[in-house]
Amino acid sequence: MFAKILIANRGEIACRVIDTCARMGVATVAVYSDADAGARHVAMADEAVWIGGPRPADSYLRGDAIIAAALSRGAEAIHPGYGFLSENPDFAAAVGAAGLVFIGPSADAIRAMGLKDAAKTLMERAGVPIVPGYHGASQHPEHLAGAADAIGYPVLIKAVAGGGGKGMRRVACPADFPQALDSARREALHAFGNDVVLIEKYVEQPRHIEVQVFGDGMRAVHLFERDCSLQRRHQKVIEEAPAPGMTAAMRAAMGQAAVRAAQAIGYAGAGTVEFIVDGRDGLRPDRFWFMEMNTRLQVEHPVTEAITGIDLVEWQVRVAAGEPLPCAQKDLRITGHAVEARLYAEDVAKGFLPATGRLDHLRFPDGVRVETGVRAGDAISPWYDPMIAKIIAQGPTRALALRKLSRALAGTQVAGSVTNLAFLRRLCEHAGFVAGEVDTGLIARDLSGLVALPEPCARVRVVAVMAALGLTGPLGPVAGFTLWAPLRRTVRLAYAGEPFEAVAEVMTDGTTGVTLGDRVHRVARRDGIWRVDDASVAADCVVIGSVVTVFWGDGFAFDVLDPLAVDTAQGGGGDRIEAPMPGLVRAVMVSVGDLVATGDRLAVLEAMKMEHALIAGRDGVVAEVRVQPGAQVAAGAVLIVLADVVGGADG
Ligand code: ADP
Repeated sequence: MFAKILIANRGEIACRVIDTCARMGVATVAVYSDADAGARHVAMADEAVWIGGPRPADSYLRGDAIIAAALSRGAEAIHPGYGFLSENPDFAAAVGAAGLVFIGPSADAIRAMGLKDAAKTLMERAGVPIVPGYHGASQHPEHLAGAADAIGYPVLIKAVAGGGGKGMRRVACPADFPQALDSARREALHAFGNDVVLIEKYVEQPRHIEVQVFGDGMRAVHLFERDCSLQRRHQKVIEEAPAPGMTAAMRAAMGQAAVRAAQAIGYAGAGTVEFIVDGRDGLRPDRFWFMEMNTRLQVEHPVTEAITGIDLVEWQVRVAAGEPLPCAQKDLRITGHAVEARLYAEDVAKGFLPATGRLDHLRFPDGVRVETGVRAGDAISPWYDPMIAKIIAQGPTRALALRKLSRALAGTQVAGSVTNLAFLRRLCEHAGFVAGEVDTGLIARDLSGLVALPEPCARVRVVAVMAALGLTGPLGPVAGFTLWAPLRRTVRLAYAGEPFEAVAEVMTDGTTGVTLGDRVHRVARRDGIWRVDDASVAADCVVIGSVVTVFWGDGFAFDVLDPLAVDTAQGGGGDRIEAPMPGLVRAVMVSVGDLVATGDRLAVLEAMKMEHALIAGRDGVVAEVRVQPGAQVAAGAVLIVLADVVGGADG
C-alpha cells in the first residue's frame, strides 16, 4: 500500500478522497491555486503545495507542476478525482513516466474511450449494443445529411470529443440539419478544438442509466446501475441507485454489457458505462444502447457506495497499489435505495445562472451523507464549478430514501448565495419523479412549476420582521422594547425585489403584534421557538449585513430596506460590542465578570427613535464595561468587551 498520495483536484472530490485515505492510513498531499489557499481540501490534507493562479489552466490543469509537487513531497501516486486532468491520457502517461502511479486506468484505456466515435466502434466489436447511427470517417455535410436520412429523424448530432452536453444538437427534420450541423461544429471546435461529429438516432423520452464498473486490468465486475435521468440541458441534477423499475433481466444484460466494455480495454480502476434507454414500454433488455464510457470516478458515485456498502475510492487506491479486485461479482449485493442531489450556488430564477458569494451561514442536517468542499465562511469563487455540496439520502425503499432527501433539503441552510435548494425540493416532490416515471425531458417539461421562487407565507414574513428588528433574543420579543411604554417600530423589507412594510408593537398580553397589510399577527418566542398566531413555527433565521434569511422548509432571503433597523451585533462573533450608530445608552445588563452566551442581550441603545438591543455574538465573559446608562455614544464606540472564559471548562 502507498504511504502517501497526491490529489490532483480541489473541492468536494479532493475532500472525499482525503477522507478515505485518512481512514486507510495513507498520507495525503493537496494542491491548490491562489483562489484556494484557505480551502477545505487544503486544511484536510496532511500537506499542501501551491501550484499556480486561480485559472484552471494555471493550476489544476498543469500536469507538470502537479507531478513536480508529488515528487518533491515523496508521494507515490496521484489521484486525479474527476474533471480537470482525470481523463487526460497524456497526463496519465506522464505520471507513469515520472515513476509515479496514476490512480486510474491506463493511458491507452482512457484514449480508447476518449472519442465517442472510436469508443462506439470498439464497443460494437465487443458486442455491446450501441445507439444506431453513423460514426464513420466522412465529415462531408451531404454525407452526414444522407446518414441522418438513413437513420430517420429525429437525430442527434454529437461532437466526438464532446462532454457536458456541448456540441450536441437534436434535429427534428432534414430542413434543419445543415444549420444544426454548422452550430454543433462551431461549438465543438471552440470547446474541444475538434469539430468531428457523429450522428445518432435520437431516442424519444429516454432514460439515462449508467453502470458502475471496476476492473483490475484482468477482470472486471459491475456494481449495478444508477439512474441519472433527471437532467437539465443534459446535465445531471438528481441521481439514484438502483434505477426505478429495473428488472432482473435488464440489470443482467446491462451489467454484462458494461463488464464486456471494460474487459475489452483491459480496464483497471473505477469507470462508468453510460447507456441511453428507451423506457416507454418499461425496461426491456433490447432497448438500451451504449453512449460512452467515463474512465474515472463519477460525481454520483456515492449512491452506488450507499447501496453496495463499498468505498469506491478505497478500491481505486488498493487496485492502483497492485491488489486484485477486492471481491467477485457474486459477492456484490444491492441493499435499499439511495438518492443524491447536487446543491449548487446558482440563480434558478435567472435561468440557473452560476452564482458566487461567501457562504456566511451553511448548515447541513444529520442523517444524510454530505460531500462538500466548503465550510461556513468559505467563498464560492467564479473560477470553478459552483457546486456547494452533494446530499445523499439512503433508505430501505425508494419512497423512504426520497422522503429523507426531501427532509434533508428542507433542513439545509445556506445564506450568502442564492442556491437551487427550492428547485431540488420541488423535484423531490414532483409526482412523476416520486412515481418513478423518469426521463431526461421531465425537468424541461415541468420547468415553470419547478423554478418558481418559493413564496413566503405571512408567518415567515412575521419572523423576518422580528429578526430585522433584532427581536430574536432568548428573553422573548418583549425584551427588545422598553418595558415601561408600548412602542411601535416600523420596518421595511423586500422579498424578491417586492417591498413591504410591517409595524411591530408590544401588546398588552406581552406578545408582539406584527401588522402586515391589514392583519395583526401575534408573535412570541419561547424556549427558542417562534409562535405566530398561536401556532409554533420551527423556523431559524440568520441576519447577515442587511439580509435576513428565514429557514422554514425553504430559505427565504429578505432585504432590510432600512439597514439601521438591523441589529448589527447579530451574527458577529466579535469581542467588542460597538454602538452601530450614535445614540443614548438606555440600559446595560451586564457587569464585569458575568458569563454570557451567544444571543444574550448586553445593552440597549436608543437611536433614531428606536431601541436597538446589543447582543453577544459569542459565548464568553464580560471583560470590560465602558459605558453607563444615560451616556451619549458615537457610532463605533466600544461599549462592552468580551473575553474567553479561562479554565473551568468541562469539555
Ligand atoms: P456528454 O459527453 O456531452 O455528456 P453524452 O453522450 O453523455 O454527452 O449525452 C448526454 C445526455 O444527452 C444523455 O444523458 C442524454 O440525456 C442525452 N442523449 C445522448 N444521446 C442521446 C440520444 N441518442 N437520444 C436522446 N438523448 C440522448
